[in-house]
Amino acid sequence: MRQKKFLLPESEIPTHYFNIQAIMPNKPLPFLHPGTRQPLKPEDLYPIFCKECADQELNQTDVWIPIPEEVREQYASYRCTPLVRAYELEAALGTPAHIYFKNESVSPAGSHKLNSALAQAYYAKKQGITNITTETGAGQWGGALSYAAKKFGLDCAVYMVKVSYNQKPYRRSIMQTFGAAITPSPSMSTRAGKDILTVNPNDQGSLGCAISEAIELAVTTPNCKYTLGSVLNHVCLHQSIIGLEAEKQMELAGEYPDIVIACFGGGSNFSGIAYPFMRHNILEGKKTRFIAAEPYSCPKLTRGKFEYDFGDESGLTPLLPMYTLGHKFKPATIHAGGLRYHGAGVIMSQLMKDGFMEAVDIEQLDSFKAGVLFAQTEGIIPAPESCHAIAATIGEALKCKETGEAKTILFNLSGHGFVDMSAYDQYFSGEMVNYHVSDETLAEYIKSADALNQ
Ligand SMILES: *Cc1c(COP(=O)(O)O)cnc(C)c1O
Repeated sequence: MRQKKFLLPESEIPTHYFNIQAIMPNKPLPFLHPGTRQPLKPEDLYPIFCKECADQELNQTDVWIPIPEEVREQYASYRCTPLVRAYELEAALGTPAHIYFKNESVSPAGSHKLNSALAQAYYAKKQGITNITTETGAGQWGGALSYAAKKFGLDCAVYMVKVSYNQKPYRRSIMQTFGAAITPSPSMSTRAGKDILTVNPNDQGSLGCAISEAIELAVTTPNCKYTLGSVLNHVCLHQSIIGLEAEKQMELAGEYPDIVIACFGGGSNFSGIAYPFMRHNILEGKKTRFIAAEPYSCPKLTRGKFEYDFGDESGLTPLLPMYTLGHKFKPATIHAGGLRYHGAGVIMSQLMKDGFMEAVDIEQLDSFKAGVLFAQTEGIIPAPESCHAIAATIGEALKCKETGEAKTILFNLSGHGFVDMSAYDQYFSGEMVNYHVSDETLAEYIKSADALNQ
């Protein structure tokens, strides 16, 4: 019988995270203080993030960073995750390509996000922190953080955008099941929330406001820190565990990827699957291609601009050097909520600028078409975000069919779609649409970032 799954025992869970910053030919430009324009130091981040994460964020020297034993023990409940050869998808496409996927949907939270949530919760606990907080839009990061906080005995407060709180009751229930306190945002519990509600008591909230509320709670509460589930360097660092395992598993399969693909929101699952392989491109001249799959309606890598911009809509963060659509950009309400972000993390942006990776944009309807084919062939219903990676993979596999090349393609299945079945419902009903964004609209929003670069 041909081998379909390539598994590693728990003892093979990596002992170190891989820090690509240390080997990049051009390091990311510094984060800048928006007022003084001075480069940020780790200490500047201590009031908001726990110390270990702040240090990791700006660490450009250590290639390997040890994974604490307590975190490895938690990883053992779902890692190493399977690497699977998608034989039936290959057959349905009639492609000579060999398609593999790394299945991150098997985590208790249903996505890769738990890989970083566990690390962040552990580092906070070790520092004597008792409470962690965050915001959540679609609810995936909130769900992962709630579980991680429970594992390390921390109280977790999640600000959930009010419209999602009401429209996505199951994600809210998941967070509650894992023991977190969920507050619909805007709320009366913070200055930021009160200011909005006194003007408009029916305000339905925004991610920008939820971020403000969570950061305000963190800086005004003793022993409370803020956490983020994507974009930042320390988050991408934790996700490297995905690619480090995949590297060993591809060896078991007797292959090495010609192409590595992942969907792209802020870039954390892409980093995770890509960087361990990319290090061989950087250090040994290997020629693997790395493709980020982003939504057509939120095209920061394919149509954005590389410049300094705020990481959030309200302009509370430091200035980050990144591919951006402008921090005021309002992505269309596609179902892949995790991909609705205006910028790309600073490491990914520098690597993109330097030609180490490429990007492709995927229409919403094409993403679901690909997701349905994947579900029918491989038996896993993918998250709407992951459907973008699948669509990009199918695109490359069909090119192989034309040329007759048997390329090896590896993609990351970032999560399952069991809590997103209403999106599939909409797809089947024929009501789902594609969203386009014109060059004029993009140019207008990018101006909001240009203004910060003068
Ligand atoms: C959050 C999320 C993403 C997008 O975030 P990245 O940081 O770009 O990886 C992708 N897939 C799933 C399932 C998610 O929950």
